[in-house]
Amino acid sequence: MSRVGAILRDLIFPRRCVLCHRLLERNEPRLCPRCAASVGAPFSGARRGAYYRRWASALRYEDVVRDSFRRYKFGGCRFYAQYYGPLLANAVEQQLGLRYDLMTYIPINALRLRRRGFDQTRLLAQEAGEQLGMVPVSTLKKRRRKPQSRVVNAEERQRNIRGAFLVTNPASVQGKRILLIDDVLTTGATVSEASRVLLAAGAKSVDVATLAAAVS
Ligand SMILES: [Zn+2]
Repeated sequence: MSRVGAILRDLIFPRRCVLCHRLLERNEPRLCPRCAASVGAPFSGARRGAYYRRWASALRYEDVVRDSFRRYKFGGCRFYAQYYGPLLANAVEQQLGLRYDLMTYIPINALRLRRRGFDQTRLLAQEAGEQLGMVPVSTLKKRRRKPQSRVVNAEERQRNIRGAFLVTNPASVQGKRILLIDDVLTTGATVSEASRVLLAAGAKSVDVATLAAAVS
């Protein structure tokens, strides 16, 4: 967007903090000082039985982050990606290191893509990739399947998700150390299943990075 365009946009849509959504002063950064201070350090972990090695995340998925992410996905705030991206990239750099041959992401299904108009995780990966010096590559496709009932627990979710993805071009992942990007980590079932098919297709390893993670 041009400078004039940005000024016009700010006049029509008052600038608000990307996370807490409060109105900003003229020169305040989009991530307000209060939120910037409370974001905290990226964190990481591993899950027993998961097909990925480790995961890292920039934010805790709670309160302001959940609302912010809703605006990003559904509320026309696509530009949030340029603020989320560096946070995600920092999580990778600080928690996982940079030894990856390939960066990929969890795809959105075709119907949602049509409705929403953009793939929120791909955009996130692109923005993070700018800082990491990697260009995200599409490797996974979501299979069309029957709608799933509301999921009760992690185990059930893991069962339900089995077979949800296929690797579009197995040759492109063979022998690769893969960085897999998703938007939000909850049970980890989705990224684990995606990791499983990537490994089955010949990937050497899969680590996961998400913008936000629900951690108890
Ligand atoms: Zn804020």
